[in-house]
Amino acid sequence: MSKRDYYDVLGVSKDASKEEIKKSYRKLARKYHPDVNKEPDAADKFKEAKEAYEVLSDEQKRAQYDQFGHSGPQSQGFGGFGGGGQDFGGFGDIFDMFFGGGARRDPNAPQQGADLQYTIVLDFEEAIFGKETDIRIPKEENCETCHGSGAKPGTKTKSCSHCNGSGQLNTEQNTPFGRVVNKRVCHHCQGSGKIIPEKCSTCGGSGRVKKHRKININIPAGIDEGQQIRVAGKGEAGINGGPPGDLYVVVQIRPHEFFTREGDHIFCELPLTFAQAALGDEIEVPTVHGKVMLKIPAGTQTGKTFRLKGKGAPNVRGYGHGDQHIKVKIITPTKLNDRQKELIREFNKLGGHDATDEQDDSLFQRFKKAFKSE
Ligand SMILES: [Zn+2]
Ligand SMILES: [Zn+2]
Repeated sequence: MSKRDYYDVLGVSKDASKEEIKKSYRKLARKYHPDVNKEPDAADKFKEAKEAYEVLSDEQKRAQYDQFGHSGPQSQGFGGFGGGGQDFGGFGDIFDMFFGGGARRDPNAPQQGADLQYTIVLDFEEAIFGKETDIRIPKEENCETCHGSGAKPGTKTKSCSHCNGSGQLNTEQNTPFGRVVNKRVCHHCQGSGKIIPEKCSTCGGSGRVKKHRKININIPAGIDEGQQIRVAGKGEAGINGGPPGDLYVVVQIRPHEFFTREGDHIFCELPLTFAQAALGDEIEVPTVHGKVMLKIPAGTQTGKTFRLKGKGAPNVRGYGHGDQHIKVKIITPTKLNDRQKELIREFNKLGGHDATDEQDDSLFQRFKKAFKSE
């Protein structure tokens, strides 16, 4: 089954304007929407029109379609429509699409200010031990000159006469399935319901000014990457006397040279020479809480992990401390002098890997056997 041309589907010419495309789709959508049209092929027709509209109403997709058609190399980039899904959207969606949302709330009602988000970047240790710090955040506040009204001091705002202060205009329309009331934002007052005859010169009538504000925050010890700290009431100012929003401080942590972190546990690698690993040693290892002596038993293998209990990060909710895990990595020497080479050859002659314990020895034997050519 070949796909119909999108322009044919919508019944418009190839050079149709955006308005023509929208108008035509709107007509078809109302005619074929499965909520109102119960004919058997209505759903398919609706889907076909929706798909055509989605492509032709988007400049980029339309250009791609004009160039490549349905089967062009870019067609997969259009997304998965036409895939037999039953996603029609409610009938209200069509209205939302054209009228930008349903009924608006009363513009004069108190509204909570917007929440703000701020990202703070911490050093590895700062996140572990926490700190108190000041941050400067840009935020909108009520204008002090007009106290947020937007009117020049001494003058008053007036209720918008076009929408009677509601901020929205209703238009009625007769359609095949009854009368529909469309609500639109009042363009005389931009939805505020108010007209300002003389605007405040500080804020230009918006009632809001952009400011920087210094806020002192306390970063709790043990905070982790991606966690956030809520500072109540430090978001943007409320509108019409509503409460302010909240401030959310999101934490990012700079990577550390040696340590990594998973939850409350800290991980690091410990490089050991072959001699240290074979003969054992006692060495100083770094932790975020200071240096700790660690005993390396003789015969330590690469990959062996030692745990330093309680040397990790404190739990941010106060449930004790994590541990530090130290993973051994044995470093094979790469710049041997002649004397060193001689000694290693001699060591090898003296038994070399025969000096491993039984388990490791059998591993060597099995490995040899498995790869021996027959
Ligand atoms: Zn002002
Ligand atoms: Zn108005």
